[in-house]
Amino acid sequence: MIVTMKPEAEAADIELVIERATQYGCRVHRSQGEERVLLGILAAGDRLPSRDVFEALPQVDRVVRVSTPYKLVSREYRAEPSEVRVGSAVFGGRSFPVIAGPCSVESEAQIFETARFLRSLGVPLLRGGAFKPRTSPYEFQGLGEEGLRLMRRAADESGLGMVTEVLSEHDLSLVASFADMLQIGSRNMQNYALLKAAGATRMPILLKRGLSATIQEFLLAAEYIAAQGNSRIVLCERGIRTFDQSTRNTCDLAGAALLKEFSHLPVIVDPSHATGRRSLVIPVSRAAVAVGADGLMVEVHPAPEEALSDGKQSLSLGEFADLQRQLTPYLALRQASFDSADESVDACDGEGKARFVASSV
Ligand code: PEP
Ligand code: MN
Repeated sequence: MIVTMKPEAEAADIELVIERATQYGCRVHRSQGEERVLLGILAAGDRLPSRDVFEALPQVDRVVRVSTPYKLVSREYRAEPSEVRVGSAVFGGRSFPVIAGPCSVESEAQIFETARFLRSLGVPLLRGGAFKPRTSPYEFQGLGEEGLRLMRRAADESGLGMVTEVLSEHDLSLVASFADMLQIGSRNMQNYALLKAAGATRMPILLKRGLSATIQEFLLAAEYIAAQGNSRIVLCERGIRTFDQSTRNTCDLAGAALLKEFSHLPVIVDPSHATGRRSLVIPVSRAAVAVGADGLMVEVHPAPEEALSDGKQSLSLGEFADLQRQLTPYLALRQASFDSADESVDACDGEGKARFVASSV
């Protein structure tokens, strides 16, 4: 059960709720939200006191019973989709922000050229790894602090927000001092110490699904961040390990749609890591829009064949422009579904069957 205090609640009001919960043998987890205190009431056995025990107390705003193990990120806790703003981008609403850039920041020329190109297409957020989680210790590990500096300058020159991965708690304050959004990658999805520390920065967090994480494990990882009082979380489906080796991972688009059923957090799709193949990035991006994703993360490089990491899945600048062109009718349909339910009727024939033509958009 989650008790949300009113913003004007004082220490004594909060203490009273904690005291009452303790009388019922419950444990209390306290977190400080952006403007209010949240108290997670956890039953010792499986019996929780009824909601009105807390609703009656002064300065209690709301008491919500949540049946899932993840609480703050669940739809039960918050029915409305939440929006996460990063610079000029808003995830979780009508817009469809795309985060794009190279797998790794490699040189000044590479990151500046990419940033200028993305700006020319109206892309709001630049990605690029400075600390790289490579499978082999002998592969390019990223430029580290120098990469962060280059990327910050390139992002600033083009007026873009900067999204970059933080690999360890050790680098957190450094990475946080440069980035606008912290990425926690697949391999670190269950690094709970890092999740807690990143949550405590209150910065927007892009949390990628672990290679073999279930949907529940993914949402519990997000809960670690939310429990620090940081609800600025964007979830990213980036493919999971399955038996088939023909794609690098298996893109779980049903999982992405399910995440939006279970959670109010925005969900984006990374078709680059999810497939590992350049040729699949555009089709999977189209599909991501169709299943209701809130945005994309796409790898793009001025010379993919020379990339120091993930060249095979990186789009060239021209291919990225093609992605944007090909997504246009899909995004127009998405927009129409926001505008009004009636719009979708226009896209149907007299018997209510969909007309599979773009002209109805
Ligand atoms: C990345 O986005 O560069 C990355 C390493 O992704 P993932 O953690 O999904 O493998
Ligand atoms: Mn990559």
